[in-house]
Amino acid sequence: MISLTNDFLSPDIIKDRLRTEFIGREIRYFDETGSTNDIAKELARKGALEGLLVLAETQTSGRGRLGRVWQSPPGGIWLSLILRPRLAPQEAPKLTFIGAIAVATAIRNLGLDAKIKWPNDVLVSNRKICGILTEMESETDVLHYVVVGIGINANFNKDKLPAEIQKTATTLKSELKESVNRNEFITCLLNEFERSYLVFLEKGFSPILEEWKELSCILNEDVRVYMDNRIIDGKAIDVDQASGALILKLDNGSFEKIFSGDVSIRRQK
Ligand code: ADP
Repeated sequence: MISLTNDFLSPDIIKDRLRTEFIGREIRYFDETGSTNDIAKELARKGALEGLLVLAETQTSGRGRLGRVWQSPPGGIWLSLILRPRLAPQEAPKLTFIGAIAVATAIRNLGLDAKIKWPNDVLVSNRKICGILTEMESETDVLHYVVVGIGINANFNKDKLPAEIQKTATTLKSELKESVNRNEFITCLLNEFERSYLVFLEKGFSPILEEWKELSCILNEDVRVYMDNRIIDGKAIDVDQASGALILKLDNGSFEKIFSGDVSIRRQK
């Protein structure tokens, strides 16, 4: 179990408690930075090893998908991991699934019912508590590196977020009414991440997808997907093993693979 309180980030404590071989064995910590993903990408370009962790108390320009702003006040967990898997570039999105499983598992260890929303969010009480941003650098067939950025609303109340985001977001502190020990939480998250990552490299995506499905909140639900230029309604029936795309059965009976978009569950009227 992860204990509550004791609210300061300590790379030394995290490293002492880790049971990993390479994930988080080197940590770069910042009280404040623009974006941990940007720092991680810069370090990766300079040759940083797989597993390097960038961790910050606060980000001044945290990003979500499509350049959206990710609010990152002090007290959160804002981190990025450098990975160098031997994969085709189109497989990189699968690493988002591994990140989501690790986050959901760590949150469940706190006794909260965390669920994963395809493709990149973790929810508690149907509200977003974590976002994951996977970025990569590649040539046509060669992946140079992947950075998995994970932002978790941890030890701040949700009133620290802008009003319009408070409606759809929550934080560990708002849910638990107490702060969590972030060092223990991060240790648990990194242990889980390495476990799933090794399963993925050794056995492929299928066991990861099985774990992911157990934690998913949109499979078998009627959903609406907002894409760049259109809206699609259908039932989320599966995730494609090859690409991680969401497979929808449309209301007209045909099937469609969704590679990116914002999904929401359609409630029965
Ligand atoms: P999604 O995957 O939900 O579409 P993104 O990954 O693009 O979202 O994340 C950016 C969006 O998340 C923002 O536009 C905003 O609505 C919301 N958001 C920003 N910061 C936070 C936060 N700290 N907690 C929850 N939601 C946030």
